[in-house]
Amino acid sequence: MPTQHALLTASGAHRWMHCTPSARLEEALPDSTSEYAAEGTLAHSIAELKVRKMFVEAMGTRSFNSKMKKLEADPLYQTEMQTTTDEYLDYITGIAMSYPTRPYIAVERRLDFSRYVPEGFGTGDCIIIGGDTLHVIDYKHGKGVVVDVENNPQLMLYGLGALEAYSVLYNIKHVALTVVQPRADGDSIKEWTIDRDKLLDWGVFTVRPVAEKAFAGEGEFCGGDWCRFCRARNTCRTRAGQYTALEDFGSKTDTGKLPVPPLLSDAEVGEVLKIAVDLEKWVSDLKEYALTACLEGKEIPGWKAVEGRSSRSWDNQDEAFNVLSTGGIEEAMLWHREPYSVAQIEKELGKKTFNDLVGAHVLKTPGKPTLALESDNREAITMKPSASEDFGGERIG
Ligand code: SF4
Repeated sequence: MPTQHALLTASGAHRWMHCTPSARLEEALPDSTSEYAAEGTLAHSIAELKVRKMFVEAMGTRSFNSKMKKLEADPLYQTEMQTTTDEYLDYITGIAMSYPTRPYIAVERRLDFSRYVPEGFGTGDCIIIGGDTLHVIDYKHGKGVVVDVENNPQLMLYGLGALEAYSVLYNIKHVALTVVQPRADGDSIKEWTIDRDKLLDWGVFTVRPVAEKAFAGEGEFCGGDWCRFCRARNTCRTRAGQYTALEDFGSKTDTGKLPVPPLLSDAEVGEVLKIAVDLEKWVSDLKEYALTACLEGKEIPGWKAVEGRSSRSWDNQDEAFNVLSTGGIEEAMLWHREPYSVAQIEKELGKKTFNDLVGAHVLKTPGKPTLALESDNREAITMKPSASEDFGGERIG
C-alpha cells in the first residue's frame, strides 16, 4: 500500500473543509500512528490480497498462501480479519457478478484529484466500472466511529479522482460510493449513488475554493466532531475555547437586567450536554497529552506521571498450578469454564456464517435507555403513555 501523504488528504477532508487552517497547523505536529491504525493497514493488506487473487492477477494458490502467511505472522493479526475481509470480497464479487460481462476492476488505485484539491491524491481500495457506473468501494476496519456514506467527502474525492482517471475510456454517468465496515454496529455495507455531473459540480464549486483556502492555511479555526482526528486536538486553543461557553451558564442573564432563575431550563440542559459530550473527549485527549509529556520529562505544572495500580500474575503458571494440585487443591478451584458471548462467537465466525448457523437462536433484548444526540440514527423512545394508553380502555360517554 502506498504510504506517501498529501497535505490535504481525502480522509481528512471532513476536517479541513470545516476548519481550513487545520491542515497547515497539523503539518508542524508529529503524526502518531495508533495500534488501531496499524491493525487497519494490516486488514487492508489482507483484503487487497484476496481481491487481487480473485479479480486482478493470476495468482497461484501457493503464492497466495505464502503471501497470506506473511500477513498472518504480523503480531497485530487477528482471525477476525479473515471474516471481515471475506465480507468485503463477497460484496465486490456481488457487484462484479451483477454485470452481464466482467467489469473493469482495480485495487489500491492511486487517485489524483489535484484538479480540485492542490496536490490532492489518495488511494481507492477498489474501483469497479460496469455499464455507465463507476463504483468506489472503501473498506473500513475500525468499529469505534461508524462511517456514513452519503455526502462523505473522502469517497467523493476518490470518486473525482477516479473520474479523472477513467472518464476518457469509459462513458460514466453515475458514481456509486460504498463503505464496507464489517465490525461496526448496524449495517456493515452502506451505498450511495450520485450523478457524475453533480459530483463534478461539487468538486468545482464546493471543494475547490475551500481546498485552496486550506492549502494556503487561511480561514477561521472551527471546532466540531472533526477535531477528534486532528493532530492539534490536544492543545488547540480554538478547541479549548469552545468549552468556556460552559462558564457562561453560571453568570448569564436574559436581558442583562433580569435575575436568572436558579434552575436550568430544559433547553439549557440540552445545550450544556452538547458541549459536555465533546468536553469529555477533550479532557481525555488532554490527559493523554500531559501523561506523554510527563513521561518524556517535560513539566506540566501541577501534574506528574506515577505508576498505576499494579497487577499480579504467575511467573510460570504450569509450575504454580502443579504445586497447588500436588498440595491437594482441586481442579475446580483453579479453573472455571464459561461460554464465549454471542458477540465474541460472531466475531470469530463472521456475521454471515454466524447468522446461517445460529442466527435463529439469538434473542435480542432491548438495551437500557441511553441518551443520544438528536442526529443519532436510532428511533427515540419514551416511557410516557400514549393518549390511547392514557384512557386505559375506559369507555367514553
Ligand atoms: S483541533 Fe479542531 S479547531 Fe483545532 S485545528 Fe484541529 S480541527 Fe481545527
